[in-house]
Amino acid sequence: MSALLLDGKILAGQIREQLKREVQELKKNTGCVPVLVNLMMGQDVGSCAYANSQKKVAEQIGIDYRLINVEERLSQAKLIEHIETLNRDKNIHGLMIHKPVPEHINYRLVANYVDIRKDLEGINVTNIGKMLLGETHLIPCTPAAVMEHIKSTKVDLKGKEVVVVGHSDIVGKPLALLLLRELATVIVCHIGTSQAGKLIEHVGRADILVVAVGKAGLIKGEWIKKGAIVVDVGINKSGSRITGDVEFESARKRASFITPVPGGVGPVTVTMLMKNGVQAFKSQLTSKIA
Ligand code: NAP
Repeated sequence: MSALLLDGKILAGQIREQLKREVQELKKNTGCVPVLVNLMMGQDVGSCAYANSQKKVAEQIGIDYRLINVEERLSQAKLIEHIETLNRDKNIHGLMIHKPVPEHINYRLVANYVDIRKDLEGINVTNIGKMLLGETHLIPCTPAAVMEHIKSTKVDLKGKEVVVVGHSDIVGKPLALLLLRELATVIVCHIGTSQAGKLIEHVGRADILVVAVGKAGLIKGEWIKKGAIVVDVGINKSGSRITGDVEFESARKRASFITPVPGGVGPVTVTMLMKNGVQAFKSQLTSKIA
């Protein structure tokens, strides 16, 4: 068996086309398009390159994406003032604080100042709570991208055993909630699972395996159940080479579907940011009408 590739570029392209049509329709009806702001401290080369790639995606969809660079040494209080000004600006519909932030900034704290209706990354603590209750459409982008990949296989998640390796606040935990909503049976593994020597056992039972750890080759191909769907979120750099957390070649021989790294989850993640932007715009329109 050789798994089918879950190509992130193709999937992202399909979602972008849908979003583009939606934005065109919104423009026709309202005369406006979503305006999204990425607030970045300093001008780190890697961060600027990433912001540029977001801008390109936004432009393909017809979204107005603006990068605002502020002084790297700006105090936390001043940064919060800046966020609050952007929150009040009715012409801005989505806002994110670019990571990484300088050491003197408490990212979690400042992210909670982003208006929950404009919270592009779905990481404001209120939105996380609302996600638990199924009350927001602003979902953290990487878990949302993983869900799109899984759904693209047309698998019925109900009752399936899904193993998520990694329980970070931005990937593993929110993903577990999204999977629960679909009535999957979710098992979340973490460092404790590995230390107890139980990772192999859980991985071997997974109908669907999602790995988000950041350790190259953590998951051996031979551990994977035959026919499983494998989504590898990990990004590990070794020189110029980028690999995931799953041993790709051996895993591919056992899985039914597998994401490559790079080119799997990454391109869809950026697209989900734009999807949140369109959603934020729509909900602000509705609240204006109401
Ligand atoms: P993170 O915050 O460092 O979380 C890593 C998780 O892995 C933690 O829950 C940790 O558990 C767990 N872990 C560490 N060692 C483990 C082991 N030996 N066995 C089982 N679990 C272990 O990282 P993250 O932000 O979630 O990101 C995870 C990976 O995904 C990284 O490689 C990152 O670059 C990548 N990523 C990719 C995208 C994308 O768009 N493609 C987006 C976001 C992240 P403990 O906390 O208990 O130690």
